[in-house]
Amino acid sequence: MRYGEADRILHLYTPQHGRVSAIAKGSRRPHSRFGGRLEPFFRLRMDLHEGRSELLTVTGAHTVAGHARLRTDASALDAAARACDAVGRLFETSEGHPGVFNLLCNALSLLDCDPARATRSYALAFRLKLLVAAGLAPRLSACVCCGENSGLTRFTGSGGGALCEQCWSSGSGQDSWRGVSFPLGTEAMDFMAQALSRPLADAPEAPAPALGQVERAIADTLEHHAHVRLMAASSGPI
Ligand SMILES: [Zn+2]
Repeated sequence: MRYGEADRILHLYTPQHGRVSAIAKGSRRPHSRFGGRLEPFFRLRMDLHEGRSELLTVTGAHTVAGHARLRTDASALDAAARACDAVGRLFETSEGHPGVFNLLCNALSLLDCDPARATRSYALAFRLKLLVAAGLAPRLSACVCCGENSGLTRFTGSGGGALCEQCWSSGSGQDSWRGVSFPLGTEAMDFMAQALSRPLADAPEAPAPALGQVERAIADTLEHHAHVRLMAASSGPI
């Protein structure tokens, strides 16, 4: 954010101190010592001074990765912005989550290596890994209601994972499953299981309708358990 005549306020995500804000004085002057480094999606090693205010002061910044290639591609820039936004909303406190930091670094670095990765399936695979980091990994191998591991046809965000046809149709005293679950097909289920078990660099693909179900499953989980609503995973066609 521009601030005053020549300053900037930065929102930073750090491995040990989570999300912090800092002021970079004079950073908008033409010959600022920070150069062009204080831009979105840079990975930096920073010197931050802690004063009396909550705002830290940037006293030094060294580029670790500038992600120059990512910046040349509109889709990759958009994907990077959505990834950073998701991390900022889900992990908005000053609590450190080194795993989340590493996941975000990895996501930006992969987009920089190959901007064509910026697909909806990549964005959803990233979000599924964020769910795990937030302690909200959905249970997919067995019904969250009865524990049965076959006939899993639905998903419940409030219940925390897959639901079997039997529990849904019989109600088994739980008519409430009808209102808080939706159909999740095999392709969507497989996508989620693979995205959770593979590295992000090897994110799976799935047809658009399946990805729509996956996005809804992630959104329902986050809304119910973290009270967070993220922007759409990608700007591409739904
Ligand atoms: Zn069941």
